[in-house]
Amino acid sequence: MRVLVVEDDEGIAQGLRAHLRQHGGVVDLAGSIEAGWAALQAEPFDLVLLDLGLPDGDGSELLQRLRRHGGAGLPDAHTPVLIMTARDQVAARIAALDMGADDYVAKPFDSDELAARMRAVRRRAAGRAQPLLCIGDVEIDIATRRVQRAGEPVELSAREFSVLLALAEVRPRVLSRPQLEALLYAWDGGPDSNTLEVHVHRLRRKLGDTVIRTLRGVGYFVPAEA
Ligand code: CA
Repeated sequence: MRVLVVEDDEGIAQGLRAHLRQHGGVVDLAGSIEAGWAALQAEPFDLVLLDLGLPDGDGSELLQRLRRHGGAGLPDAHTPVLIMTARDQVAARIAALDMGADDYVAKPFDSDELAARMRAVRRRAAGRAQPLLCIGDVEIDIATRRVQRAGEPVELSAREFSVLLALAEVRPRVLSRPQLEALLYAWDGGPDSNTLEVHVHRLRRKLGDTVIRTLRGVGYFVPAEA
């Protein structure tokens, strides 16, 4: 999951980045409305975490710009946005929700609650009410990060899970090798000696050959019907 964090407090921003990386996220940081807008125009994000008090204005200005002017090409006007507010900023929170924010978290936030709200927002954005992704007889529980095949639990490494989830969430879209490699490099544990091919090979061995397909020279995908 590629996340844009728009937050001017360096400590909070770095803390969020470290936390999100542990959950397999690829994180970009922006410290102002303008930097956030530039980032959104440069590449697609799966989710935006948006602070409201930014040095060049109210974060909701960035939200409005995204909802009004996103569209064809980048940025996607429907990119899920989760706002971050102080606990007593009830009016600002309501206003941001009415402007098109998908949810909010109050600072100081609990990192597990933040992760759960991010999952919920992404699920809704993908049109799914259920926290389960099913690919043939493979079932992925996004919240608990558990995977089953034909009802039997399957042990996946954290990196294998990240690759599988990234592909499953956008099925049947193809993810390029660089996109998937960025996911693997996002881990704080340092670079992994295993290449993407090794992870895909192991996933196929554990889940069957039909779940992850190769588009030669481009990348990998999960077919619509596996
Ligand atoms: Ca701030």
